[in-house]
Amino acid sequence: MIRIHNVLVSPGEGGVYGERMLDGYRVWDPYRSKLAALYTVGTGIELAPAMRVLYLGAANGTTVSHVADYVDTVYAVEFAPRPMQDLLEVARRRRNIVPIMADAGKPEEYAHFMEPVDLVYQDVAQPDQVSIAERNLPFLLPGGWLVLMLKTRSVDVRRDPEDVLAEARDALARRLEVVEVCWLDPYHLDHAAIVCRDRR
Ligand code: SAM
Repeated sequence: MIRIHNVLVSPGEGGVYGERMLDGYRVWDPYRSKLAALYTVGTGIELAPAMRVLYLGAANGTTVSHVADYVDTVYAVEFAPRPMQDLLEVARRRRNIVPIMADAGKPEEYAHFMEPVDLVYQDVAQPDQVSIAERNLPFLLPGGWLVLMLKTRSVDVRRDPEDVLAEARDALARRLEVVEVCWLDPYHLDHAAIVCRDRR
């Protein structure tokens, strides 16, 4: 990932959501984006120009736009009409974002738009986050990556966040190799990143 004076940036045109520019690059703020937080507190995966990404929970396209600065294509799934309007505007100005209005828990709704991807990135903040991710694994290429941003309070606000994280990690480990698990504080409280790799 590109850093200038130790600040994470992405190499696109600015003006997407009021982000700062640094030496012609877009500043990628860890307080605004969980993926930027992962690159700040942990390792994450290297985004490369040939990669295709399935992004679940695109919202208004903040993080999508930074991912799109690094990769070939982002298939961006969002089911809420209001953020979708903003996402469409972001996609209109970039050639490599494919906005898809659909429920990420029903991948059969968008399977016909898709091609196999190198990375499934998920940030949906739902009680069944792990199950939604698992339903999208058929899109992963052999050796591909899953990055799941787990919001533990969305799974069960009464349970110990460490237990919720351990349960999610164990469930994913049944099908994938778990290569990194880390909490995203102080940038995003009660959020953890789980980075997995397809074993094939
Ligand atoms: N990833 C975004 C970013 O960094 O800019 C923020 C995502 S926000 C925390 C979660 C988003 O997931 C919301 O916009 C919500 O509407 C969407 N979402 C939740 N469940 C979903 C589902 N089953 N299918 C599609 N989108 C979903």
